[in-house]
Amino acid sequence: MPMTIRCYQCGKVYDAVLTSEETHEFPCPACGKVEVYNLAALREKAEKIIRQRTRGR
Ligand SMILES: [Zn+2]
Repeated sequence: MPMTIRCYQCGKVYDAVLTSEETHEFPCPACGKVEVYNLAALREKAEKIIRQRTRGR
Protein backbone atom coordinates (compact mmCIF):
# COMPACT_ATOMS: atom_id res chain seq x y z
CA MET A 1 0.00 0.00 0.00
CA PRO A 2 1.88 3.07 -1.24
CA MET A 3 1.25 6.29 0.55
CA THR A 4 2.60 9.79 0.81
CA ILE A 5 4.09 10.87 4.09
CA ARG A 6 4.63 14.41 5.16
CA CYS A 7 7.33 15.05 7.71
CA TYR A 8 5.81 17.17 10.42
CA GLN A 9 9.21 18.43 11.42
CA CYS A 10 10.53 19.91 8.16
CA GLY A 11 7.50 19.59 5.87
CA LYS A 12 9.24 17.34 3.33
CA VAL A 13 6.84 15.09 1.43
CA TYR A 14 8.03 11.63 0.45
CA ASP A 15 6.64 8.31 -0.67
CA ALA A 16 6.61 5.20 1.47
CA VAL A 17 5.18 1.73 1.03
CA LEU A 18 3.42 -0.14 3.79
CA THR A 19 3.92 -3.83 3.14
CA SER A 20 2.14 -5.28 6.15
CA GLU A 21 0.00 -4.28 9.10
CA GLU A 22 2.99 -4.01 11.34
CA THR A 23 4.26 -0.67 12.52
CA HIS A 24 6.56 0.93 9.98
CA GLU A 25 9.23 3.48 10.61
CA PHE A 26 10.24 5.82 7.81
CA PRO A 27 13.16 8.16 8.28
CA CYS A 28 12.69 11.48 6.55
CA PRO A 29 15.19 11.78 3.67
CA ALA A 30 15.60 15.47 4.35
CA CYS A 31 16.06 15.78 8.10
CA GLY A 32 16.21 12.18 9.33
CA LYS A 33 13.17 12.48 11.59
CA VAL A 34 11.55 9.07 11.88
CA GLU A 35 7.85 8.90 11.15
CA VAL A 36 5.97 5.91 12.51
CA TYR A 37 2.99 4.55 10.63
CA ASN A 38 0.74 1.71 11.61
CA LEU A 39 -1.54 0.40 8.89
CA ALA A 40 -4.00 -1.14 11.34
CA ALA A 41 -4.36 2.19 13.13
CA LEU A 42 -4.86 4.00 9.81
CA ARG A 43 -7.55 1.52 8.78
CA GLU A 44 -9.29 1.88 12.12
CA LYS A 45 -9.34 5.62 11.63
CA ALA A 46 -10.70 5.25 8.09
CA GLU A 47 -13.45 2.90 9.20
CA LYS A 48 -14.45 5.31 11.92
CA ILE A 49 -14.84 8.08 9.34
CA ILE A 50 -16.86 5.79 7.08
CA ARG A 51 -19.13 4.88 9.98
CA GLN A 52 -19.72 8.53 10.74
CA ARG A 53 -20.59 9.24 7.11
CA THR A 54 -23.07 6.39 6.85
CA ARG A 55 -24.70 6.99 10.21
CA GLY A 56 -28.32 8.10 10.26
CA ARG A 57 -29.77 5.64 7.76
ZN1 LIG B 1 11.90 15.92 7.73
